[in-house]
Amino acid sequence: MERKYWQEEMETASRETLDKLQLERLQKSVKRTYENVPMYRERMDAAGVKPEDIKTLDDIRKLPFTCKQDLRDTYPYGMFAAPMKDVVRIHASSGTTGKQIVVGYTKNDLEAWDNIVARQLIAAGLTDEDKVQVAYGYGLFTGGLGLHGGASLLGSTVIPISSGNTARQVALMKDLEATALACTPSYALFLAESIAEAGLKPEDLKLRAGIFGAEPWTEGMRKQIEAGLGIKAYDIYGLTEVMGPGVAYECSEQKGMHVNEDHFIIEILDPDTLEPVPDGCQGEIVFTSLTKEAFPVMRYRTRDIGSVTHEPCACGRTFVRMSKPQGRTDDMLIIRGVNVFPSQIEEVLIKLGYTPNYQIVVDRVNNLDTFEVKVELSESMFEGSVGDLSRREREIGEGMRSTLGISPKITLVNPHSIERSIGKAKRVIDNRKLHD
Ligand code: ADP
Ligand code: ZN
Repeated sequence: MERKYWQEEMETASRETLDKLQLERLQKSVKRTYENVPMYRERMDAAGVKPEDIKTLDDIRKLPFTCKQDLRDTYPYGMFAAPMKDVVRIHASSGTTGKQIVVGYTKNDLEAWDNIVARQLIAAGLTDEDKVQVAYGYGLFTGGLGLHGGASLLGSTVIPISSGNTARQVALMKDLEATALACTPSYALFLAESIAEAGLKPEDLKLRAGIFGAEPWTEGMRKQIEAGLGIKAYDIYGLTEVMGPGVAYECSEQKGMHVNEDHFIIEILDPDTLEPVPDGCQGEIVFTSLTKEAFPVMRYRTRDIGSVTHEPCACGRTFVRMSKPQGRTDDMLIIRGVNVFPSQIEEVLIKLGYTPNYQIVVDRVNNLDTFEVKVELSESMFEGSVGDLSRREREIGEGMRSTLGISPKITLVNPHSIERSIGKAKRVIDNRKLHD
């Protein structure tokens, strides 16, 4: 049966109710964390803050920040706030940006997580009659088991195929009549391509919705995935340190992702001054957990850049919406003094009719940064004349210069020559690090 909300009372609560709930939960969580995690207690003591000092939601600003390095320094269990006998699951970050970190969950934590993922699935129009192919990686990565838990709670039929083995993935999608797909957007695009190569059309499949996240993706990429798979594609956001996928979820309006505010407080801060920025302005996304027992976090600096809006949403949900993060500050390249996000390059390429199969290569030669973008041609583009190809190079180069303010060297490469990703795509090869 189709439902509009999974937990309607919470998802549509008034601001007043939410504020009250958040304050109660924040006070309780800060007290528990202070009592159980030495790192937080030391930091709060050093700042002269006691749990009783949290009297309003604004008092969150008295709390210390947490960053990824803190998780590394306390590896593996130093930041756990529950006794190990109550910890029933461990996950680890996928290690995209350095040494692994681990986090833990109690039974209550897993229940909360399953519920927030179920909220996403309902928001994407799924029901207990859907068959959800979970093609995120299973294991320590939060994607697979995160979506698995939410889809199970919803009562849909889970196909726990994990990522990879793409030919089998396509065959099973067809044979088992999967109606929904959950994976990274880059893997969704790879699957769409593989489906076409298998001689299938979207109509030959029963897919109708996709839940994609764990990496940045542009609106242009969304359209290509939707066309290639014949579905509506939804964005889901999350990170291991805070919970996993489902921290924020997209509704049918698709104008930003609702943050599950009964479990997390979001702040958008100027990354330099760490002062809040107004609604609609970009800044660093910072989360504080409100209900987590095993691994609570205070003001976790995600290094993701985004904004929030408190404008009401036509879907009826009252949770604030965050913008699609443009990328992490770690992903931002500084090339000859200019800030460049891979997503900006993707936008230019998609606008000009290319697929998001590209690679950025940065190096340093004679103290000068070199900047190359490899762009993959489709079969039909590849058949064009030499003149066509140089026109393409020029056109892409100009598009990049006007968007980025800096011109990369454009190298057109053969169809299928850029490696496809079954998880998070690796778009940037920065060889400058080798020389540092
Ligand atoms: P790792 O840090 O090793 O990559 P995670 O799986 O925890 O491991 O990654 C979380 C990060 O992935 C987020 O901080 C964010 O940068 C990115 N991310 C997750 N979901 C999205 C999304 N929907 N859009 C853009 N970026 C996302
Ligand atoms: Zn909405």
